[in-house]
Amino acid sequence: MSNHESHATQSLSRKVVTEVPGPKSRELHERRTKVIPPGVMALLPVYIERAHDAILVDVDGNQFIDCGAGIGVTTVGHTNDAVVEAAREAMGKVTHTLFTVTPYEGYVQVAEYLAKTAPISGEKRTMLVNSGAEAVENAVKIARMYTGRPGVAVLEYAYHGRTMLTSTMNHKGSPYATGFGPRAGDVYRAPNSFPLHDGLTGEEAAKRTIQWLEKTAGAADLACLVAEPIQGEGGFVVPAEGYLPTLAAWCREKGIVFIADEIQSGIARSGKVFATEHFGFEPDMVLTAKGIAGGLPLAGVTGRAEIMDVAPAGGLGGTFGGNPVACAAAVAVFEQLEEGTPLREAQRVGRVLGAALEDLKARHEVIAEVRGHGAMLAIELTEPGTLNPLPELVNHITQTAAQSGVLLLNAGLHGNVLRFLPPVTITDEQIAEVAEVIDQAITSYQA
Ligand code: PMP
Repeated sequence: MSNHESHATQSLSRKVVTEVPGPKSRELHERRTKVIPPGVMALLPVYIERAHDAILVDVDGNQFIDCGAGIGVTTVGHTNDAVVEAAREAMGKVTHTLFTVTPYEGYVQVAEYLAKTAPISGEKRTMLVNSGAEAVENAVKIARMYTGRPGVAVLEYAYHGRTMLTSTMNHKGSPYATGFGPRAGDVYRAPNSFPLHDGLTGEEAAKRTIQWLEKTAGAADLACLVAEPIQGEGGFVVPAEGYLPTLAAWCREKGIVFIADEIQSGIARSGKVFATEHFGFEPDMVLTAKGIAGGLPLAGVTGRAEIMDVAPAGGLGGTFGGNPVACAAAVAVFEQLEEGTPLREAQRVGRVLGAALEDLKARHEVIAEVRGHGAMLAIELTEPGTLNPLPELVNHITQTAAQSGVLLLNAGLHGNVLRFLPPVTITDEQIAEVAEVIDQAITSYQA
């Protein structure tokens, strides 16, 4: 079977043929609730049978335009041809050996690509793990060993994962940490830069963050500052110009490791390989996951060699970290990044979707702001003339959109942000359809 024929979903478009969720999805959902706990939630309980580019096809034959990409994972498109081909070939050769027992080339290739593209100068090293949270955990471990200090600084609205340490690092206690305690110690959440809400310049916001950290934690106790250059779950918060460079300079001066969590914003998502490149600073470590392997589980911790080399042999690793099939998929993603298409397409999505969202903002006063870069854009919905959040409106829009065959995700501390993380293969026509569905949903809410 040729690669082309294997994608029965090629060139599919939005189509709703049953109520949403349809009868087959409802049946599956009933089975699910008997064996899967509610803590593992389902935002939209339609069960997906196959997917290609920006279209999800459910078991009832409904076809959704996907503005979530599995929360920013299938950036190069669902079932991207090169990713599928590379994974298929690797699968038939070697599915697992454990890199720390008997190594293989794919892991080395991924580390080489990351050394080439990570926004860090000088010699770099990469270790691979399975998930974003695991990357954050390892980065903190390494920073602690390198500095000999315990403290972990994070920012307001941050999200870093669901393990014990990372759930403490998240801004939202509920649902991520509340009741799951005790929480990890030595985590300090500092004020962030959020131009829409604080009206501060980058320098002013950085001064506030630094003063807060120096007073509460004390720079001498801080191993690292972990920051998302563009925050994901927090609502696609883009810091004011100069904020991140000022923090990075302060970290360097105080010997604090600056860890850029690019798990959501990295790998072409923002129109650059790393979102850090938009802001003109250099972190000491950069974390990748989500988009790196086109849908297969893989994550990376890349950092300055001097920092990464402190851990003793055997101190870093894990059974599945850097699985050969996932590495082969990541190499296929990096080859496309080098050729340039995903970056160009992310920039196109930024222009076309950005213009469509600005147009919606001009017509609906409830849209307080359009923000983001590339294929990582969001709108914040507030009561007109105020910054009071409207999470009910966001819920109305996501539910109405689902009924119309568009999958949308919310975000933000108050759930009043609609974020767009489509595969960059989403077409201009599909973007226009998404904007029209949102337009109608807002109008029907106000009516
Ligand atoms: N950091 C950021 C910025 C993320 O967006 C996420 C996932 N949403 C994580 C860490 C955790 O990644 P994972 O779910 O793969 O553990």
